[in-house]
Amino acid sequence: MIIHDARFLTSNSRADLCPEPTMPEYAFIGRSNVGKSSLINMLTGRNGLAKTSASPGKTQLINHFVINDNWFLVDLPGYGYAKVSKTSRAEWARMINYYLMHRANLMCVCVLIDSRHPPLAADLEFMEKLGEEGVPFVMVFTKADKQSTAQTKALLANYLKKMSEIWDELPRYFLTSAETGLGRDEVLNFIGEVNQQ
Ligand code: GDP
Repeated sequence: MIIHDARFLTSNSRADLCPEPTMPEYAFIGRSNVGKSSLINMLTGRNGLAKTSASPGKTQLINHFVINDNWFLVDLPGYGYAKVSKTSRAEWARMINYYLMHRANLMCVCVLIDSRHPPLAADLEFMEKLGEEGVPFVMVFTKADKQSTAQTKALLANYLKKMSEIWDELPRYFLTSAETGLGRDEVLNFIGEVNQQ
């Protein structure tokens, strides 16, 4: 897919205030600092479209972007930031659950996972929740350039082994780097394919 237009539409603190679900929607989520903003900017080819936050975990907004005038890209607030209060965490959970349960045009959630890390409970639990609720998702491993190809391969194999212990069928996954553009075509073509269905 070629991105010829990408623009910010709205930020909402409540899932029920999101734009009318007139186009297919793809949501991006992950732990704070996973590289979500960088990935969104890499995918859209627009530096600065998604703001890299100076204070991770602070803003809990659902950000909608319109891509090519035919799909929504959604930047969801991240999870797992240690300094966030219990209240904020509960608010996040309420907002995200509502969004995931009610967003009629949600085609797929892209769960971002830092390729450097071993499987982390926060990510595994989030994906299990998606599975339980029947929300389609893919895994997008980020920052693949941070280590050697051999290390990335080993880390990925380890992650997939853990996933295969939990899941009968492995979710689809992509390996990406915002630095090198690795995985850009694969992720965008995947979205293009789902849009065609
Ligand atoms: P967010 O909090 O999930 O939106 O994460 P950011 O996109 O702000 O990225 C967090 C940090 O990781 C920043 O310092 C980025 O420059 C860095 N980063 C993000 N993606 C990559 C990547 O693919 N490769 C490398 N080397 N660094 C990355």
